Amino acid sequence: MKNIGFVGWRGMVGSVLMNRMQEEHDFDYFHSTFLSTSQVGEDAPNIRGVQELFLQDAYNIELLHSLDIIVTCQGSSYSKIIYPKLRKIGWTGYWIDSASLLRMNDDAIIVLDPVNQVFIEQSINNGIKTFVGGNCTVSLMLMSLGGLFAHNLIEWVFSSTYQAASGYGARAMRELLIQMGQVYNLVIDFLKSPVMAILDIEHMITKFSKTDSLLVDCFKVPLVGSVIPWIGNDACDGQTQEEWKGQSETNKILNTSEIITVDSLCVRVSSLRCHSQSFVLKLKKDICLMEIEEILQSHNEWVEVIPNDIVQTLGRLTPVMVSGTLKIPIGRLRKLNVSNKYISAFSVGDQLLWGAAEPLRRIIRQLV
Ligand code: NAP
Repeated sequence: MKNIGFVGWRGMVGSVLMNRMQEEHDFDYFHSTFLSTSQVGEDAPNIRGVQELFLQDAYNIELLHSLDIIVTCQGSSYSKIIYPKLRKIGWTGYWIDSASLLRMNDDAIIVLDPVNQVFIEQSINNGIKTFVGGNCTVSLMLMSLGGLFAHNLIEWVFSSTYQAASGYGARAMRELLIQMGQVYNLVIDFLKSPVMAILDIEHMITKFSKTDSLLVDCFKVPLVGSVIPWIGNDACDGQTQEEWKGQSETNKILNTSEIITVDSLCVRVSSLRCHSQSFVLKLKKDICLMEIEEILQSHNEWVEVIPNDIVQTLGRLTPVMVSGTLKIPIGRLRKLNVSNKYISAFSVGDQLLWGAAEPLRRIIRQLV
């Protein structure tokens, strides 16, 4: 049996991964060691198959070197310290990572098996040892539009994203909830009075939000009652790092010989969980909507084409309805006025599942 070490298992991605692995009984197939960067010696999670009673030190290179597979959901700063050290001393195990640090390395594969299983298999056979989950919006876009990419029908695609607070980690999600509470507590008495003018309440909240009264440690500005049209570092030419990943990761995942143009404008919104995306895309040829829907629907077992009507859209195409599920609904499909080759679409996906944990879970099973 292989020995697998888990680092970052209590974070957002890590805990979703643990839940999914328990649901699928994955822990029956290997020995597990749980490590931590901050809680060494405390109790390891109570999971069937666990070999260690206590959390081990995630910086113990000797211990890490003894493992066959290391799965980390700890983030790039951890990988940056540990990964090169391990490889330098000749560790030849499999490194599976949710962070972005290693994604674009030549010797790393971005895993999203419903989209690039053939490439994954070739890479395993070619001795690749580093497998990384993709950027969440990129993976979710490929899961939803996968059929059109697979049929080589997309000339270019532009995505406007609506990304949940939890995409920025556990602390960010807490911050949003605290902001919600701060705002509610401010106006709770006024809300009880139906005669109080709603614009007076809004004015109170806006003034409160503008005067450094809300907790903004993670996001730097209020997210509650607002949106933040900048995610990640500055890439260059006005593009953010998050937006840069759209084209680079899409083409790497698809292993394209000719670059498919992908661009985006990424925005943080106050959803708790699930990233949504509105797409505008240009097709290489004019095909009818019904055919487009069939191509999308038949690509993988999780995508769901949602009829473009109000009842279906409200009932099935919102973050609340999709959170915690592996569903990838795509709707609002229509041809745009500009030309028959242009279509719009809207998709929602749980960025902690298909956008992070699920591709990692599935590559673990393949490697085991
Ligand atoms: P996270 O929730 O911030 O967790 C990362 C680590 O923070 C945990 O493993 C834990 O490490 C520590 N931590 C500190 N306070 C914590 C608390 N109150 N609750 C839980 N953990 C706490 O980060 P994440 O969102 O899972 O992201 C991990 C990596 O995956 C990042 O590189 C991220 O970019 C990437 N990713 C995230 C998403 C997403 O939707 N969040 C999607 C795709 C990729 P110790 O136990 O060692 O202290």
